[in-house]
Amino acid sequence: MTHRTYENWIFNDEELTSAQHAALNAHLRTCDTCYRLHQRRKSHEYLFRTVGMLAPVSGFSVRFYQRLMTRDIENMRTRNKAITLVALVGLMVWLGAVMYQFASWLRFLPSLLSDWTAQIIGQLAFWEITGEVLWGVLWEMPNVSLLPVAWSVFWLLGGAGLLWGVSVSRILSNRKLTA
Ligand SMILES: [Zn+2]
Repeated sequence: MTHRTYENWIFNDEELTSAQHAALNAHLRTCDTCYRLHQRRKSHEYLFRTVGMLAPVSGFSVRFYQRLMTRDIENMRTRNKAITLVALVGLMVWLGAVMYQFASWLRFLPSLLSDWTAQIIGQLAFWEITGEVLWGVLWEMPNVSLLPVAWSVFWLLGGAGLLWGVSVSRILSNRKLTA
């Protein structure tokens, strides 16, 4: 007889002949695995019998089930509240950080604007003077070949542009450092 046969017998012991019962009992004494299976089967049977005895108490299982459900719902509500609270706190912290950033940016905005305005006015004055000087030079030296003049204008414009770009980028990076 195989091990598997005894396992089947353990779960169908109501349908066994007395000879099969005797064989099963003999196997249970020698096989630990089957014995443990048999014990588990017995305890389940006991549990089912107990539940069967309790079940007739009117509406017990329904009440039991309802209590379980209520407890689950309560747990779920508590969990949802906790999650909502954490999410709210996180949102508030995030909003606070954003507001702080925005406020510090706002604080620097006027000085940034006045810097830019001063820069633009300075540039305009510079170009006005430069233009007048160049214009004067061009008018004062009508006999000078125009090619070297054109070249000097070109280099002057290039150098001024470079200086202007450097000063603007320096102002911007200074702002970034202090902000
Ligand atoms: Zn066995």
